[in-house]
Amino acid sequence: MPSSQNDLEPSAGSLLRQIPAVDELMSRPGLRELEARVGHPVVLEASRKILQDLREKISNGTVSSVSRERLEKEILRETDSMLAFSLQPVINATGVILHTNLGRAPLAAEALAHMVRVAGGYSNLEYDLERGERGRRDVHTDRLFSRLLGAERSLVVNNNAAAVFLALNTLAEGAEVIVSRGELIEIGGSFRIPDVCAKSGAILREVGTTNRTRAADYASAINEHTRVLLRVHPSNFRIVGFTERPGLEELAALAQKHNLLLMEDLGSGCMVDLSACGIRDELPVSLSLKAGADVVTFSGDKLLGGPQAGILVGKHEPLQRIRKNPLFRALRVDKLMIAALEATVSLYLQGHLDSIPALRMIRLSREAIAVRADRLAQAIASNQGFSATLREGESVIGGGSTPGQTLATTLVAVRHSQLSAGKLEEMLRQGKPAIVGRVEQDEFIIDLRTVADEQDEKIAQAFEKVNSHQ
Ligand SMILES: *Cc1c(COP(=O)(O)O)cnc(C)c1O
Repeated sequence: MPSSQNDLEPSAGSLLRQIPAVDELMSRPGLRELEARVGHPVVLEASRKILQDLREKISNGTVSSVSRERLEKEILRETDSMLAFSLQPVINATGVILHTNLGRAPLAAEALAHMVRVAGGYSNLEYDLERGERGRRDVHTDRLFSRLLGAERSLVVNNNAAAVFLALNTLAEGAEVIVSRGELIEIGGSFRIPDVCAKSGAILREVGTTNRTRAADYASAINEHTRVLLRVHPSNFRIVGFTERPGLEELAALAQKHNLLLMEDLGSGCMVDLSACGIRDELPVSLSLKAGADVVTFSGDKLLGGPQAGILVGKHEPLQRIRKNPLFRALRVDKLMIAALEATVSLYLQGHLDSIPALRMIRLSREAIAVRADRLAQAIASNQGFSATLREGESVIGGGSTPGQTLATTLVAVRHSQLSAGKLEEMLRQGKPAIVGRVEQDEFIIDLRTVADEQDEKIAQAFEKVNSHQ
């Protein structure tokens, strides 16, 4: 065969002819074993992909030999990555406790155990065991919220956005809802009060100004079409300075006088007083109910520290109407969420706040974090090329709550003699397990407030691996 190429370099044509058939490759003992474990279709798909990659590499001139051993190894690796889960655990070293991109609140061990116990088999989700007849899924959490918050009634839906939508649709479709201009907020993920209001069929009536709204502004907007006064927690921003908004009691009295309902979207939904931790903008849900709100909505996975859910608590009559809305059926939660929520709320009732990871993290002192930070900094600095120092810093609650309020923490600031902080960040983020931190002034910053104690060791190990991977 005429060839213009160097005799030592096989031509692309001859390499292509050396590619084994898929069947031949798959009959190798290593791949037969793999097939027995994970099934024929996956191994076949991986093999075809690897052979196709090889053909492309040959045409590009980026390989100069065909090795069956190497192909086998590549197929093993490809099969592994095809079967690997996409959703995987991440170590959150950002210090943002309710990090929405990282799944918000981590669940309590008790919540996980209850989910496993209940969801692996059948349960009395909607079955009244006492009477032997059909029951309601709301009963499981209803009795707990009434004990914890003094609510007459509660309902659980998919998330707080759904809770607000469902409540407005039920209580004010085709009628007017009065909201202060200072509370027409947008939360991340395109939740905007005016848009949710419009979609629910309620007509938004704005009152007051951005910084000041008085009870008289609400009063003068009330007309025969008004059904609801809506108060919204300005979760993720703060207006400071010349500001005013009426107390909830004042709005409750106004609502009662005109036979309207007072609804409050609290967003985060704090179960206990956290002012001792420096969180002063988040009043417990029970206070809203005491002040006379008829319906209060909040998230399950923000300050409550439970699963993603939207919780509606309040008076019996409006909640009963919301329960009967056909949309409730479309927004209802699964048994997994009810189990997780039941176990989490039960921890509050027993006073076991430190068993709820988000609350434990909020309550951690700077000093307790410093002890761990010091240990980690020493472990990191013991690796070639690394230096690590402790810095005073601030953690945030996140999840669109407590704007402008931070928790004092101790950070570990890491530098490497050869690698930029950006490169380090990338390597740790793409590692197994993935570690997410932040980069500030060419230092990689770790805040252990959001890292579980037992993960400190994993972070130290990841830094050990950095030098061998670069
Ligand atoms: C976070 C938030 C929501 C949305 O809650 P999700 O549970 O994320 O759907 C709605 N309103 C307020 C005020 C919030 O802070």
